[in-house]
Amino acid sequence: MPLQTITVGQFELTSIAVQPESLRPVQQFFPSADLNALETIRAELPEMFGASASELRFSQSLCVLRDSSDVTLVDAGLPATPEGWPLLNELTELGIALTAVTRVFITHRDADHIGGLVDASGAITFPKAQHFIGSLEYADFQRDAARREWFTKCVTPLEQAGLLTVIEAQPLKGIVGAPEFAPGLKAVFTPGHRSGATSLLVGNAALLTADVLHAAFQVTQPEVSIMFDADPVLAALTRAAVIAAAAAHGWVLHVPHLPPFGLGRVVRDAAGRSSWLLV
Ligand SMILES: [Zn+2]
Repeated sequence: MPLQTITVGQFELTSIAVQPESLRPVQQFFPSADLNALETIRAELPEMFGASASELRFSQSLCVLRDSSDVTLVDAGLPATPEGWPLLNELTELGIALTAVTRVFITHRDADHIGGLVDASGAITFPKAQHFIGSLEYADFQRDAARREWFTKCVTPLEQAGLLTVIEAQPLKGIVGAPEFAPGLKAVFTPGHRSGATSLLVGNAALLTADVLHAAFQVTQPEVSIMFDADPVLAALTRAAVIAAAAAHGWVLHVPHLPPFGLGRVVRDAAGRSSWLLV
């Protein structure tokens, strides 16, 4: 079964691989990347690259949090296709019925994160779950003309069923003292990839990120943005702040598009250089 489970405070956190690994061209995805510098990082993290630093391993995983009372899913992955739906297979193997999911946390509006909120017939996938989305991401998704169809398809049914709760994401600075929206869970404002992208802090021990990073080398080079970041400058600032906070607090990070399951920590050497360490 393609998954990894760790304990985070009161929660059992399981990261489920929902897309197989594939190779992506670094220069196309990260136009400002310096391949010579990346060769150094590839020597330290060969499992993140292909045969050279110009090829990056890319995948997708998403997290399920379980404690004594709730099953919380962080994003819903890609929509089901005629070939199947990996998330459903994995939840079934974990013994989690779709009706057993009590919360879904939506990080941002992209199809690979919200597509699975409804099934192929348009029915709500997790009919017993309260779905949470940050207020700015909700508002900007609603007025995003390019994604109107996705909003209508995936978000409107949740609103009509009374299953959507819009929450206030908290700034990263001062997050330790910020309020929880559910026991042990805080919504953290991490804009840049999308204007209202919201990450999930679990028990002040793990930050499940909203595509703040797309490659392990960005831990060392947070200034390099992927071409898909809506605001590359803001994305780079958020990325640097998240990396600094993760190092300072010792957080585990979940980075959805990193193989194998996106789980790691930021380590800093004596010179202040940060790098990715798989957990
Ligand atoms: Zn994504």
